[in-house]
Amino acid sequence: MIRVVIEGGKESVQINAFPDYCPFCHVGITPDFVTGLFGSTKASVEALFTCPKVSCKKMFIGTYSHNGMNGCYYLGLVSPSTLKPAAIADEAAEISPQFAEIFSQASQAEGYGLGAVAGVGYRKSLEYLIKDYCVAQHPDKDDDIKKQPIGQVIDRFVSNENIKQCAKRAVWLGNDETHYVRKWVDKDVKDLKLLIHITVSWIQQEVITKKLLEDMQ
Ligand SMILES: [Zn+2]
Repeated sequence: MIRVVIEGGKESVQINAFPDYCPFCHVGITPDFVTGLFGSTKASVEALFTCPKVSCKKMFIGTYSHNGMNGCYYLGLVSPSTLKPAAIADEAAEISPQFAEIFSQASQAEGYGLGAVAGVGYRKSLEYLIKDYCVAQHPDKDDDIKKQPIGQVIDRFVSNENIKQCAKRAVWLGNDETHYVRKWVDKDVKDLKLLIHITVSWIQQEVITKKLLEDMQ
């Protein structure tokens, strides 16, 4: 139990605990209490906290309610509730920052239950990943690669057979997300995401292997 001063110093209440994580940086913290107010009745308290992490410092609200028994207020909701960002391999984000950005937007959309929009977003992120990867391999063909349809780019510029096969299938499924009639009826956004992950990890392996071989000649 913690006693906190609320209503600008005019009242104090007992609360059961501070929130134990930050809704912005999604890590465990002991937040700093700033101030609090009673809700519309004294049955609830809204408490304002800040995240102590120097890289975050964001404010958030814990909503407490009274159980009518022991005078204590218990933590319910912590808001705003934000989704944990999607994990993206550094090697892929380095090759294609736009892939990382669009993929994480698609993942947020999916997290909010917007599956149809997420599918289109994943498809778009894949296009950036493949094209930026190909540009990194063939910097002289930059213009060519960016203008061509993704399927042709994969056929012409991806030489690693594993990446080629995964990327091709991801594009097939991705196209289904943008078309009115589905061709791959038993596949969905989960399969598309899985194929993107496999493509990313092949690219990651290739980049790491290349770096290692350069370092250890
Ligand atoms: Zn934080």
